[in-house]
Amino acid sequence: MSLRENRYAKQVQPATLPVSTLKGVGPKRASHFAGKGIHTLLDLFFFIPLRYEDRTSALTIASCRDGTTALVKGSVIAGREERFFPGRTRLFKIRLRDDSGELELLWFNYRKPHLARFAVAGTKLFAYGAVKMNRGRLQMVHPELWEDRGEGLGFFPVYSSIQGVSPPLLRKIVRKALDDYLGTISDPVPETITKALDLPPLGEAVRQVHFPPLDSRFSDLDQKRTPSHRRLLFDRFFLVMLTIAFRRKARESQAASVWTCPPEFVSNPSLCFPFKLTQGQRRAFLDIVHDLGTGRPMNRLILGDVGCGKTAVAALAARAAVINGTQTAVMAPTQVLASQHFDDFSSIAREMGFRPLLLTSALKKAEREEAYKEIRTGACNLVIGTQSLIQDEVRFPHLGLVIIDEQHRFGVRERALMDRKGKSPHQLVMSATPIPRTLAMTVYGDMDISLIPDYPAGHRPVITRLVEESEKRKVLDFLKQRLGMGQQAFVICPVIEESEETDLKSATDMAARLQKLLSPPFRIGLMHGRLAAPEKDKVMSDFRRGKIHVLVGTTVVEVGVHVPAAALMIVEHPERFGLAQLHQLRGRVGRGSERGVCVLMVPEGLSERALARLRIMADNQDGFEIARKDLEQRGQGELIGTRQTGLGELDLSEMMSEPELLLMAKEKADLLLESDPDLADPRHGRLRNFVESMLKQPVDL
Ligand code: ADP
Ligand code: MG
Repeated sequence: MSLRENRYAKQVQPATLPVSTLKGVGPKRASHFAGKGIHTLLDLFFFIPLRYEDRTSALTIASCRDGTTALVKGSVIAGREERFFPGRTRLFKIRLRDDSGELELLWFNYRKPHLARFAVAGTKLFAYGAVKMNRGRLQMVHPELWEDRGEGLGFFPVYSSIQGVSPPLLRKIVRKALDDYLGTISDPVPETITKALDLPPLGEAVRQVHFPPLDSRFSDLDQKRTPSHRRLLFDRFFLVMLTIAFRRKARESQAASVWTCPPEFVSNPSLCFPFKLTQGQRRAFLDIVHDLGTGRPMNRLILGDVGCGKTAVAALAARAAVINGTQTAVMAPTQVLASQHFDDFSSIAREMGFRPLLLTSALKKAEREEAYKEIRTGACNLVIGTQSLIQDEVRFPHLGLVIIDEQHRFGVRERALMDRKGKSPHQLVMSATPIPRTLAMTVYGDMDISLIPDYPAGHRPVITRLVEESEKRKVLDFLKQRLGMGQQAFVICPVIEESEETDLKSATDMAARLQKLLSPPFRIGLMHGRLAAPEKDKVMSDFRRGKIHVLVGTTVVEVGVHVPAAALMIVEHPERFGLAQLHQLRGRVGRGSERGVCVLMVPEGLSERALARLRIMADNQDGFEIARKDLEQRGQGELIGTRQTGLGELDLSEMMSEPELLLMAKEKADLLLESDPDLADPRHGRLRNFVESMLKQPVDL
C-alpha cells in the first residue's frame, strides 16, 4: 500500500473522484475519457476546450447567407418524417420561422427519432449549423438544436473529441460536473502564489474556461489568452515543475557504483571511430565520464540537432559500461531506428568490446527465447531494441547503462520502467527536439543537459524549397533526373490511405501513382506504421541496399534513418507536420556525398500564416533557430504535434506554448521547495498529495 493511501486518505476530496461518478458516464465511456488522460473530475475541469464557437447572437432567418454557419432562433411551424425512396434514405424535416422568414432543418438517415420532441408546432428553438440555399429555399442540414428557455446563447466550448461522446453530450457532462462538484474543489496551488501573480481563483477560472461569460472577447478565447486560461495553464505548469523537482531529488538520493574510465580512453576516445570527435561530442563525452564517477546514477540528456553525431557519444558511454563490466540497453522508438543502431554499433563492436543483440517484436518466438537467454546469462552486453525491451521477460543480470534515443517519443513511464531493470542504472537520453536552452533546462529539469552545438566537418545543410502544387511536373522531372544520377529519394505523405474525410494525398496512393510514372529500372517501396515488422525491415533493408529507389512513406521514416545515397526528399502536405518534424525528416537526406534537397509541396489555397511557417523551414538550417522562430510566430504549440495528457503530465508543445508562464511556474516551484523541501507544511498537504500521486511514491523518501 502506498503511503499516499494510508496517510492522506482523509484528504481525498470530491474533485479526485473518478469521472464515472457522473451520470451518463459508465465504464465504457470512462475508458474513452481515460484515453484522453481524463480520470478524475479534476482532470475533466482541466480539460481545456480546443476552441470556441461564437453563439452569442442569433441572426434573423432572412439575413442567413448560403455557405455560412449561423445561429438562428425561431418557432416550429411543423416537423415530421418524410421518405424519399422506400427503405432507403430517410428524411426528417422541421420547418422553423421567425419574423423575417422561414428555414428548413433537415436530417438524413438519422438514427433515433429523438427529433420528434422538437417537432411540436410552436416550440421555440435555437438551431446552429451550415446554411444552404436549395431551389430558393433556405436549409440547414443536421443542425444542432436546443430549446430556447430564455438562455442558451453564449460561447460554446469545442473539446478534443472523445469517442462515444457527442459534442453536445460532452458539454452537458462538463456542465453538470461543474454544477455539482466545482464548489467542492480546493485549489492545490497555494493562494499566496496565485494572488501574487494576479491570477483568478481556480473555481472561477475553471467555470469561465468551459463556459466563458458573454462579455468575453472572442479573439482572447480563441487564442486561450484569458486570465482564466492562464490560471489553468499555470496550475498545470506549477504541478509539473514540482513533480520534476521531486523526480530529480529521488534520483539524486540513489547510489550507483563509481565507474572508472582509463585515462587513455578519456583522452583519446576517437580511436574507435574513423573520424575525430567534434568539440561538442567531446564535451558531452567528458560530461558523461564525470557523471559516471560521482557514485550517483547519471541522468543526462544529450540535446543536439539532427546529424550532430549523438550516436557516437552514446557508443562511448556504452564502451564505458563494457569497461566496467556491465550491460547496456539501447531503446529506440521504432524498429527501423533500432536496426539502424544495431548496424552502427555492430560495425565498431570489435574495437569497443560490444557483444550486441537486436531485440524487436519482429523476432520469431524461438529467436526471442534465445535472445532472452543471452541477455539473462550476460552472454551479450549490449541490447538494442524498441519498447519490447520493457517486457518482463527481458532480465539483465547487471544492467549498468540505459540509453534512450529520441526521447520525446517516450514518456516518463518508459524511462522509469527501464530504470527498474537494473540497480539504479546510469541513464543517457538523446534528443533532437529543437528547443531553446532556457526552456530545455526547465522542461528537462530532472536531467543534466549536454548540448552539442556543432556538426561534424563536411556537414552541409539540406537545401529546402517550397514548390507550388501547379509545378508538380517539374518536381517529377527533377526526381527522375536525380534517380538517373544514382540517387535515392523519400516521398513523405501525411496519411497512409485515402479517406473520405480528407483529400490529403496518401502514401499508398502516391506509391501506386509513382510506380506508373517512373519507368522500370526504378522501384518504389512503401513504408508506413501499419506494415508488420518483418515487412518494414525488408523494405528498409531493400532501400538501404539500393534495391528500392524511391521510398514512399509516412513519418515512420522520420527518426534516425541513415541511408547515404538518399539525397532528395519530397514532402506532400508539409503544412500538416510540425516544423520540428519536418526538420527531422529532411535530416534523413544528404548524409552521403551528395548535397541533400528537400522539396515541400505547397497545396493550393494554403493560408498566408501556414505559408510563413513553411518559409521558416526554407530560410533556416538550425533546428534550434527554427524552434525559436516558430514560437515567436505562433506563440502556440504545434511544434512537435500535440497529445492530450492528464493534469500533471504535459506535452512538450504545451509547455512551450507560454514560455514566460512556464518559467514563472518553475521559479515559484523552486522558491516553495526552498522554504519547504518535503512539502511537510500542512498548508501544502494537497500539493504534496498531488505530487505523490504523480510520482507514485512519497516525496520524503
Ligand atoms: P544524430 O545526432 O542525428 O543521431 P548520427 O549520430 O546519426 O546523428 O550521426 C550522423 C552521421 O555523422 C553518421 O553517419 C555518423 O557516422 C557521422 N559522424 C558522427 N560524428 C562524426 C564526426 N565527429 N565526424 C564525422 N562524421 C561523424
Ligand atoms: Mg540519431
